[in-house]
Amino acid sequence: MTELAAWVEGILKGDRALLARAITLVESHRPEDQPRAVALIEQLLPHAGGSVRVGVTGVPGVGKSTLIDRWGGQLIEAGHRVAVLAVDPSSQLTGGSILGDKTRMTRLANDPAAFVRPSPTRGELGGVSGRTRESLIVLEAAGYDVVLVETVGVGQSETLVRELVDTFLVLLLPGAGDELQGIKRGIMEMADLVVIHKCDGSGSDPARQAAATARRALSVLRPSDTLWKPPVLRCSGLTGEGVAEVWAQVQAHQSSLKDTGVFQERRQAQAQAWMWQRVDEGLRRALRSHPQIQEKLAELEAQVTEGKMSPSGAAHTLLKTFLGESDHE
Ligand code: GDP
Repeated sequence: MTELAAWVEGILKGDRALLARAITLVESHRPEDQPRAVALIEQLLPHAGGSVRVGVTGVPGVGKSTLIDRWGGQLIEAGHRVAVLAVDPSSQLTGGSILGDKTRMTRLANDPAAFVRPSPTRGELGGVSGRTRESLIVLEAAGYDVVLVETVGVGQSETLVRELVDTFLVLLLPGAGDELQGIKRGIMEMADLVVIHKCDGSGSDPARQAAATARRALSVLRPSDTLWKPPVLRCSGLTGEGVAEVWAQVQAHQSSLKDTGVFQERRQAQAQAWMWQRVDEGLRRALRSHPQIQEKLAELEAQVTEGKMSPSGAAHTLLKTFLGESDHE
């Protein structure tokens, strides 16, 4: 049996050690890993696509890991297999990690029916231009039927996660004016479900108010002719209250997408976007490693920086160099 066939067989059987290695491979940006990574994804793709893909976003401290740990636990008790992926934009911005630097999801981390992919460690490229899509495919092929993709409200990570999942869940804090922040950043427009979190103890009253504000905001922001009206829910990851209702609404959203054909359309559009993202990446890599471009690049960059050449003029020169060369190859 070839190495690839052995990997495919192991992953389909849910071999966890292989799964971890496969995810490391498909997330790799090293050029020498690409052929094996692409071949593996190609083999796994027919076995993928069957999970409920849910994005979870919210500011650091809103309780994402606490909620996912609790929610994942409930799902496992109901017979599901749950995977958690993180898209962490911080590793790109600062080389550090917002999501990763703490012990997270202890319930799920120790459960054989769960797979928690740790955030990329310092210095590794994670998240935004990372390979979360590929990891999702590997996990689905391994039989995980609910995949939760977690992110924080920084930069483009939310848009990226929105493009990976079927249902996008926005967590808000009660009483922090956070529902307004969400509106400003345009996140409410992306939400399929809005969840006011930490709705327990002294948080209960502010949560009710926050829910009313979020509902008003949604009624303004979302066109009234769409079939799905994002519900505003309240729950607590700490006590578990309301968490079952979050899952019920995720399922309702999935049914609504499927009934209207939007589910299929969305996944098709996502597949196309995936292809183009990889084409863009490949072209950029090819361009940067092109010998003549490498020769010219520093000089052109300097000229642009010093205002001696226009950015579009320099881009034109670079593209001409790249395409001219390719013509002769
Ligand atoms: P994350 O940064 O969004 O992943 O947030 P965490 O899950 O790490 O939670 C941040 C803090 O809020 C921790 O101290 C949690 O114990 C607390 N927390 C999380 N969920 C709840 C909740 O439902 N209710 C209350 N009262 N506290 C919570």
